Amino acid sequence: MQLGSGGSTSATNTSAAEPLHADVAVIGGGVIGHGIAWEARRSGRSVVLIDDAPGTGASWAAAGMLAPVSELHYQEQELLELMLESSARWPDFAAALADGGAGRETGYLSTPTIAVGADPADRRTLTDLREVQQACGLVVAPLTIREARSREPLLSPGISCALDIPADHQVDPRMLVASIAAALARHEPGSRTAVAGAENGYEIRENAAGLLWDGGQRERVCGVRLAGGGTVRAAETVVANGLAAASLDGLPDGLKLPLRPVYGDILRLRVPAHLRPLLTATVRGIVRGIPVYLVPRQDGTVVIGATQREDGHSAPSAGGVYQLLRDAQVLVPAVAELELLESTARARPGTPDNAPLLGRVPLGGITAGQGSTVRHGSTAGRAGTAADGGLRATVAGLIIATGFFRHGVLLTPAAAAICRGLMDGVEDKRWHAFRPERFSAGRPAAAGAAAPGNGTPASCATGTVTFDRDKEPA
Ligand SMILES: Cc1cc2nc3c(=O)[nH]c(=O)nc-3n(C[C@H](O)[C@H](O)[C@H](O)COP(=O)(O)OP(=O)(O)OC[C@H]3O[C@@H](n4cnc5c(N)ncnc54)[C@H](O)[C@@H]3O)c2cc1C
Repeated sequence: MQLGSGGSTSATNTSAAEPLHADVAVIGGGVIGHGIAWEARRSGRSVVLIDDAPGTGASWAAAGMLAPVSELHYQEQELLELMLESSARWPDFAAALADGGAGRETGYLSTPTIAVGADPADRRTLTDLREVQQACGLVVAPLTIREARSREPLLSPGISCALDIPADHQVDPRMLVASIAAALARHEPGSRTAVAGAENGYEIRENAAGLLWDGGQRERVCGVRLAGGGTVRAAETVVANGLAAASLDGLPDGLKLPLRPVYGDILRLRVPAHLRPLLTATVRGIVRGIPVYLVPRQDGTVVIGATQREDGHSAPSAGGVYQLLRDAQVLVPAVAELELLESTARARPGTPDNAPLLGRVPLGGITAGQGSTVRHGSTAGRAGTAADGGLRATVAGLIIATGFFRHGVLLTPAAAAICRGLMDGVEDKRWHAFRPERFSAGRPAAAGAAAPGNGTPASCATGTVTFDRDKEPA
């Protein structure tokens, strides 16, 4: 169904009297909202993206590591499958943006990652983790210190070990958001994708206040009520506003979105000409048990991150900045000579099981025990065709896409593809573990059931290790 009617592509016009009309309304303009909006557009739908400050949330801070191998954690096998799926989608996703976009670079690089340990205990940690990664079929190859330093001459000769991880890549999230925004602002002549009244034919620089429902039965969401009093009418509404998703008015009865802010401090530094390139690969290290990473960008800057703290402080922490610089210099002593450009802190949208809340919501309110029921044969509301053969009656016109925690950039192409599938009436059972209602009605269900925010050990077949959870600043 095409509701977009073309027309003006200039300033937003969201007066209460004149609702805007689009096929798809996406609430939230981080990497996830942008990715979903663009995929919906690529399917021929008209789209509006609603956000008063797009790109300034967690996506602004993110290092952009696309790291399914390094990010493996205990009992997160479903999440690993989703991360691998998304990682595999990245090359085409970036290429399609380059082809169909407005000529803006995404900063996608298929350069590898090298994991390094500082002392013997860090080496043991990485060696144990490698066993688990291998048990999961992931490729992690030991390097001698000499081999590692011939690839990255500025690595310290004092490191205790190095491992090559060829499948972990990177993208620049700020460039990515700008690139998708430019692609969304492009409307083919004669197409019906430009939404009349939206800036650039797709943007609404205002926050959403809540969901609009069609009638009193609460079977169909039909758009968005804007904070300024205007409305957007849409066949599909996607809730993708990160941590703020739970505070929207009019969410389905009983739906709990247990999001929590997990703050991260992260630094951006400029490498002086005589030290370029500081690194060619991303370096992920453990220094006396504490993770740190260095992500080199093509523009001669490097990103050093990141802490993980749940102290509620939204400003960068002095202790966190100190810890990052201290540990990065242990691995790459030349870090001391870089120019510090920026320290940033943002909150990752965490969930109890560290996995996203992604999918449609069951119809008729969520009651005790209903958690993630598949109702066979019911066709009330919108019934997606579940790949397990049943029809699951869900609220029509509503998709939830939040809680991407540490992996939102990596998971953008998969989230976008899953949402497009749902809009097309297809639900892939591989992703049922991420259904957004799994924490509603008192269910302790979890996609992999890792404890929240801990230093999580990983295990596919056997073995337990601890790796790469960002730690609190000392
Ligand atoms: C320090 C740090 C490093 C990270 N590194 C990586 C990494 O290397 N790789 C990786 O994959 N992930 C990384 N992440 C995680 C990643 O940043 C997040 O998972 C991702 O950005 C989540 O994207 P999002 O679009 O859901 O949320 P956000 O980027 O937070 O976007 C949400 C948007 O919603 C908007 N909004 C809020 N309320 C409303 C409303 N009422 N109406 C409309 N809009 C609203 C906000 O303005 C914001 O633009 C990192 C995060 C941090 C903090």
